Amino acid sequence: MAVHEVVTWGDPRLKKDSEDVGAWTPELDQLVADMFETALAEEGVGLAAPQIGINLNLAVIDCSCGEDPAQKIVLINPEIVREEGQQVGPEGCLSIPGIREVLERPMKVWVKNRRPDGSWEEIVGEELLARAFCHEIDHIDGLLFVDRLTPLKRDLLKRKLKKKARADDWEE
Ligand SMILES: [Zn+2]
Repeated sequence: MAVHEVVTWGDPRLKKDSEDVGAWTPELDQLVADMFETALAEEGVGLAAPQIGINLNLAVIDCSCGEDPAQKIVLINPEIVREEGQQVGPEGCLSIPGIREVLERPMKVWVKNRRPDGSWEEIVGEELLARAFCHEIDHIDGLLFVDRLTPLKRDLLKRKLKKKARADDWEE
């Protein structure tokens, strides 16, 4: 297994619409294992393939941060089919280190997801898991959480991010 480098804000691969995963292969098993390891090493709840420079509709989530294997979720060509309620809380992203902003998300979401064997399942997430589903599915649509802030907040933050990206300085 290998920890991959996480690409940061300003990298064009984070803004691209990703492609659907096709037939499952041993290489994809390896990629998923690497993505879980990378998320864990970076202390993130989830990681989407574009964040390691691979534009595939693929993401991993582990709300237990490595504590409980049963909480590992692999999203393959996922799609949100229903949402309910709302939650307001801080959100961050491994591709935008040191930045956390309060963002509204649905409290509960239903996701249509493909399994590696090609069959489909519907998975439901609430609270942190619902937020993670929204955040990771945004990534594979080429959206970052800061793109969802109000225009004023976004503009202020963009100036800060541009400075960080130019200096390649992502320390907090
Ligand atoms: Zn993220």
